[in-house]
This record gives sequence, structure tokens and C-alpha cells, in this order.
Amino acid sequence: MSKKLEGKVALITGGSRGIGAAIAKRLAADGAQVAITYAKDASAASAVVKAIELGGGKAVAIQADAANVEAVKAAVEKTIETFGQLDVLVNNAGTVIPKPFEETTLEEMDRVIDINVRGTLATTQAALRHMKSGGRIISIGSAVGDRVQTPGLVAYSATKGAVKIFTQALSREVGGRGITVNNIQPGPIDTDLNPASGDWAVPQKAATALDRYGNVDEIAAAVAFIASPESSYMTGSNITVDGGMNA
Ligand code: NDP
Repeated sequence: MSKKLEGKVALITGGSRGIGAAIAKRLAADGAQVAITYAKDASAASAVVKAIELGGGKAVAIQADAANVEAVKAAVEKTIETFGQLDVLVNNAGTVIPKPFEETTLEEMDRVIDINVRGTLATTQAALRHMKSGGRIISIGSAVGDRVQTPGLVAYSATKGAVKIFTQALSREVGGRGITVNNIQPGPIDTDLNPASGDWAVPQKAATALDRYGNVDEIAAAVAFIASPESSYMTGSNITVDGGMNA
């Protein structure tokens, strides 16, 4: 039986660690050829490529800071050069600088906005030039783009709210071309960005209905469904995968 993403090409931004690495491995396991970007850690990126190749898949790692529009455009072109097409874009690269809003500097706000919002918009624009009917734009927003339970996430939450309405608005422009646009909103997921241990984790875990952090594969599973042909009637949707944190 052929795999669900056989013959498809996916680009995952920030695919060298955490949620993005799990998405890259899962889409490759479902048959996609995969390009990942990373900002700093080339060895983590090449470990993801090697893991995919060991499983019989094809992958390439591209250094491209999501805040650098030229680098992002070059990453899309490199994906096309390598695999000949682009069917699925996952805007996953993101960062958070947790601190009280009034102590947050403009430079810190700019950094979070540039990666989480500007990067998502610029990468999507570059990708759409190559996408055909059946194309999928998938962003990794956040449960805090919908409801916020904790202080210290003002700028970050604002960017994830922007990703949410970006998803809804863009779905109206590209639906006629058979391209869907959806947003996965994770709750607390155990990664370097949000480790499940330590003081910061305690209230997040307590806020979930399932009383636990999620793992990266639980987000990758949702992305795999949206990337697949089975999600064909879903667009402009915000899919919250948060252990019931926002329930
Ligand atoms: P991690 O910090 O664990 O991993 C981030 C990944 O993105 C790494 O591969 C990193 O590569 C890459 N990256 C970081 N900055 C950039 C950049 N400027 N340009 C390109 N790549 C970059 O984060 P998570 O896996 O936890 O988060 C992934 C996404 O999920 C983010 O958008 C985040 O906001 C969102 N999210 C996470 C939640 C969580 O609880 N973990 C909850 C809700 C949403 P490198 O090492 O080379 O920098």
C-alpha cells in the first residue's frame, strides 16, 4: 500500500530540534521528501537528515534564519532545486522570550515578531509561488494564541494570535487554487523551548485537563493529518492540541 504522502515534498522551518524535528521525521515516515531549515545547530539538523535517510527517506537540511527574508526565500528555492516541487510548508520556526511585558525591550519584541510572524509570512509567500492544487500551508501557532493562562507571554501570545488570523485570512485568498491553510495550536510540549521539568512547567501542567505535558509526536500526528489528502475539506482552521489546557 502506498504511503499517504508518497510523491509529496515538505519544507519544515526550524526542523532540527523539538516539534519541527518530530514533524520532519513523521512526514518522511508517511512518504514525503523533506527539507528542514535551522538557524544555528548544523549538527542537530544533520542528525535529523540521517535519521530520515536511515528509515529509507530523503531529506536535506538548509541553514536559514526565519528572521532573514533572503535566507528564507533561498531555502524555498533550494527545496525546489533539490526535490523539484513543494507541496507542504510547515511554518514551525518560532521563539519565545518570557518576561513581564513592561520589562520587554523593543529589540526583544522585534526578535519574537520577526521570527514568529514576519518569518511565517515571508516563507509562505515564497512557498506559494511553487504550490499547486492540493498544496498545504500549516503553521505552528500556540494555544496561547487563543487564550492565555500565564503572565510573561504578552509579545509571544500576540505573535501567535497573528498566526491564527493570518491562517484564516490567507485561506480566503488561496482556496480557489485548491490550497489549504491551517494552524496547529500546541499546548505545553516538552522541548528545549518549554521543558517539562522545573518551576515554569508546574502551572502549565496543572492547567491541562490531562495533567501532563504533551510530547512532540502528538503534535507531529496532527500535522501529518493536515498534510495528508484526508484533511481536504479543512481550511482556515485553528486546531488546538493542548491536553485540554484551553477547555
Ligand atoms: P525548540 O526551541 O525546541 O526548537 C526550535 C527549532 O527551531 C530548532 O530546530 C531551532 O534550530 C529552530 N529555530 C529557532 N530559531 C530559528 C530561527 N530564527 N530560524 C530558523 N529556525 C529556528 O522549539 P519547539 O520545538 O518547542 O517550538 C517549535 C514551535 O512550536 C515554535 O513555533 C513554538 O512557538 C511552537 N510552540 C511550542 C510549544 C511548546 O510548549 N514547546 C507550545 C506552543 C507552540 P536551531 O537550534 O538551529 O536554532
